[in-house]
Amino acid sequence: MHEMGIAQQLVKIAIDAIPEGIENPRVEILNLKIGKLASVVEHSLTFCFEIISKDTPLETAKLNIDFIPVTLRCKSCDNTWEVTGPVFKCPFCEDGDVQMLTGREIEITSLELADE
Ligand SMILES: [Zn+2]
Repeated sequence: MHEMGIAQQLVKIAIDAIPEGIENPRVEILNLKIGKLASVVEHSLTFCFEIISKDTPLETAKLNIDFIPVTLRCKSCDNTWEVTGPVFKCPFCEDGDVQMLTGREIEITSLELADE
């Protein structure tokens, strides 16, 4: 279950992102951007996150995940498109030499602190 490693990373990055000088900070919402190809299962990640965030400012944080579609760029004709099926070939010139633009990212977009 690779969600455990991802949750560890997210908690670490989020804690670093909390501005200094706040007394007992508490994160309410953690906004995430996750590519559809990152193969993250939402309920596994939520589950792992709850375990790892225990006794941290993220303990009660809710994960708000925005799943990012897979987009590719063809290196031959420079077209970009969104992938909906398992075909990784350019629909315009049928070339297979493509570059992935989005779809694998796992990022924190922002975090929202609770006002005490
Ligand atoms: Zn092409």
